[in-house]
Amino acid sequence: MATFKEFRNNVKPNWCPGCGDFSVQAAIQRAAANVGLEPEGLAVVSGIGCSGRISGYINAYGFHGIHGRALPIAQGVKLANRELTVIASGGDGDGFAIGMGHTVHAIRRNLDITYIVMDNQIYGLTKGQTSPRSAAGFKTKSTPEGSIETSLSPLEIALSAGATFVAQSFSSDLKQLTLLIEEAIKHKGFSFINVFSPCVTFNKVNTYDWFKENIVNLDQFPDYDPTNRVAAMNKIMETNGMLTGLIYQDKTRKCYEDLIPGFAQEALAKQSLDITREQFDNL
Ligand code: SF4
Ligand code: MG
Repeated sequence: MATFKEFRNNVKPNWCPGCGDFSVQAAIQRAAANVGLEPEGLAVVSGIGCSGRISGYINAYGFHGIHGRALPIAQGVKLANRELTVIASGGDGDGFAIGMGHTVHAIRRNLDITYIVMDNQIYGLTKGQTSPRSAAGFKTKSTPEGSIETSLSPLEIALSAGATFVAQSFSSDLKQLTLLIEEAIKHKGFSFINVFSPCVTFNKVNTYDWFKENIVNLDQFPDYDPTNRVAAMNKIMETNGMLTGLIYQDKTRKCYEDLIPGFAQEALAKQSLDITREQFDNL
């Protein structure tokens, strides 16, 4: 069985020292090992942004896609080879701005893949502009007087779109994040995890200390029932979206692949076509 070290490669990440994305990478590697995966059983597909580099830093199949399009690629990979565990990842700009159309439809489609968003509430790769997750009043080069838009709530959107697995974590909490990624991988359906992953270089507001002060860990509510969708929405709204932990899970709904009549259980490449050369030429 592979250890987490076997999910490392020799590419040195060029994230800034202290970037939250380092811990997300480590959590994916640990979770993959803890659930018993081998590197050749995992595909990591990413979009564009600092966080999008993650697919190159993990010893597994990797695909660094284009901006906002990690999910269409990840869904294609999964449909072509159901035997792979597929993780899509990217940032808040990638997934909640240009990629939001894909995000909501991938959520409601419910393929058996995991989507991890590294949410730093800013555009980091392009050196610090306001993102869909930046709070009203947030000052950057693109909003020097402060943003006049409100931040969107990915947890509310995921729940409204019909998500069967919704979680949120903090890159500093490696233990919680690793456990949530393990649960997400094991969940039979689309798993959405939003991860607060601070950008230490450009976001001087939503810092590690800011998150530590504002996060509300679900552990504080021992009676919380993650199968209750209404309770999940209420708790998200009560905590202003700062809730961390497993917020919602529906184990009863079938994933997309299982709803396709006769859909292959094995990779398309392994299936033989019952067709003669002559028939093929006449297609
Ligand atoms: Fe991380 Fe921000 Fe540096 Fe990008 S710019 S690597 S998000 S700290
Ligand atoms: Mg971002």
